[in-house]
Amino acid sequence: MVNGSAETESPETRTVAFIGLGNMGGPMAANLVAAGHRVVGHDLSADALAAAVDSGVTPAASAVEAVPGADVVITMLPAGRHVLALYRDEGLLAAAAPGTLFVDCSTIDVADARAAHEAVAEAGHRGLDAPVSGGVLGAEAGTLTFMAGGGAEEFAAAEPLLAVMGKRAVHCGDAGAGQAAKICNNMILGVSMVAVSEAFVLGESLGLTPQALFDVASTASGQCWALTSNCPVPGPVPTSPANRDYRPGFAAALMAKDLGLAAGAARASGVDATLGLRAAELYEEFAAAGGADRDFSAIVRAIRARSER
Ligand code: NAD
Repeated sequence: MVNGSAETESPETRTVAFIGLGNMGGPMAANLVAAGHRVVGHDLSADALAAAVDSGVTPAASAVEAVPGADVVITMLPAGRHVLALYRDEGLLAAAAPGTLFVDCSTIDVADARAAHEAVAEAGHRGLDAPVSGGVLGAEAGTLTFMAGGGAEEFAAAEPLLAVMGKRAVHCGDAGAGQAAKICNNMILGVSMVAVSEAFVLGESLGLTPQALFDVASTASGQCWALTSNCPVPGPVPTSPANRDYRPGFAAALMAKDLGLAAGAARASGVDATLGLRAAELYEEFAAAGGADRDFSAIVRAIRARSER
């Protein structure tokens, strides 16, 4: 199998333990069930677990109880501390049969992902970090993009399942490489959304209509996804969240989280990511000031408000 594509291999049925059945994990697990895999799941939230059971997931009373008999353990949890606590402290690794494949799809710190890989290997298992992009709609439609870190064999073993939950899986390198790709991509996205938003506010103050700026920049060197697909002002791109009062889309709280991970990694590795660090601060402030649930393109409102003072 060529890296960078996730074509479905054999329709081999697997037994999957799926831990974390929230906004993303719930529909991902449902797609595995729909593809004929046996999925035993657990979530601390009774509502999330009940919704997963409705889609055919077999409930387990705890995460540890979901694992015996599983070929693959998938986690989709809020942060690295949840993954490490389950793996190391709560006995998830100890409960699995030797050689079980642990695939963590959560977005977590690169250092935590590497620590998770180490714990998995020490316990005699195989690991893959495989965070996603594509959001809840992508999870529901089975069109996520996976960015994977780990060995080639582990990637190949996970690929048939990733192909059910997503449309593309890229093997980015060794342990932690999937998380690294995820936060670097989202740093580009966060910085470019701030840049596009500042340009629209500056254009407004200079008497330029948003449509005129869009017509030029979208076909000139300012072209980027933040402008042409997720345009932060209403009008030029009818499908962008700006046209529906910034309902996400990709919530600002999640952008703040991902930029925080990127900023932490930049500091830890001594990289001069001036704009990435500033974007992390801007999104943190925006989320804390009530914008958490809005699409991340709503940052344009904060820039406009500060400009009018
Ligand atoms: P969520 O909060 O909806 O789901 C997380 C679930 O994990 C919750 O239901 C929670 O109860 C459960 N959980 C926490 N600790 C647990 C434990 N010890 N055992 C069992 N269950 C536990 O979050 P989400 O939106 O599904 O995001 C999950 C991950 O995916 C995050 O890391 C997020 O950054 C990433 N992500 C989210 C999106 C998105 O658009 N929502 C997009 C890309 C990546």
